[in-house]
Amino acid sequence: MLRAMSTPTATTDAEPPPQPSPARGEGAGAGTSALAPPRRSFLAALRDEVWQALLPQRCLACGAFGAALHEACLDRLPTADGARCDRCWQPGVAGTCARCAEGGPDAPAFDALRAPFRFEGLARRALLEAKFRGVSAHLAPLGRAAAAVVPPDWRPEVIVAVPLGRRRERRRGFNQAHEVAGAVAEALGVPLADGLVQRVRETRAQATLDAEARHTNLRAAFALDGTPPARVLVVDDVTTTGATLSAIAAVLRAGGAQSVRALAVARED
Ligand SMILES: [Zn+2]
Ligand SMILES: [Zn+2]
Repeated sequence: MLRAMSTPTATTDAEPPPQPSPARGEGAGAGTSALAPPRRSFLAALRDEVWQALLPQRCLACGAFGAALHEACLDRLPTADGARCDRCWQPGVAGTCARCAEGGPDAPAFDALRAPFRFEGLARRALLEAKFRGVSAHLAPLGRAAAAVVPPDWRPEVIVAVPLGRRRERRRGFNQAHEVAGAVAEALGVPLADGLVQRVRETRAQATLDAEARHTNLRAAFALDGTPPARVLVVDDVTTTGATLSAIAAVLRAGGAQSVRALAVARED
């Protein structure tokens, strides 16, 4: 499938990182400079797609041929288990963490976040291969694994993928958050609202900004094109601080959404 022509609009992306961390892959907002993915032209993306289609697929986890990542091999990935904040999914917290409980400007704008895996080991490898090497075939099984941890009471009416800047998407050939979101949408039987949230401008990681200014800066990167329904699920491939997901949640709420939940394949703990 060629995805180089697909939807999300806008320009670029980047999220203010809490601290610089190479190749950490915060969703669409990763690697602002040093470890930015290599430039990939449309032709390079096309070549990779054709190559992927011709080569017999090998499972990333077990090495056997037949699939990019066997469903049965998903249990080899590091699970985001143990006690976690019921809202932001931060580990080592029973109940709700102080940041979420206080509800100040640093609390996430989403109602809850879930991710089935920790961003390490095979989960990290699978997501980074998608990002840096244009290998998207294992994003569908990862998306199904993410869908499996969505609590039944979330009942989203639409699913929104964290949009990638248009230039970056063209370079990469696809938006990995969109690939994951597509699999989530299919697994949950909920429509994907393509283009509802748009990335409208570049946000630079600005260490000089204080937390509140960073939030404002990041929120200004997203805009709605349409009216969201009451319950929205925002999907990214990987999240660190949840800042991107929170910024999108804030925009959706401002547009009338009543509850916004967030889902990622992996959380960088
Ligand atoms: Zn396998
Ligand atoms: Zn929390």
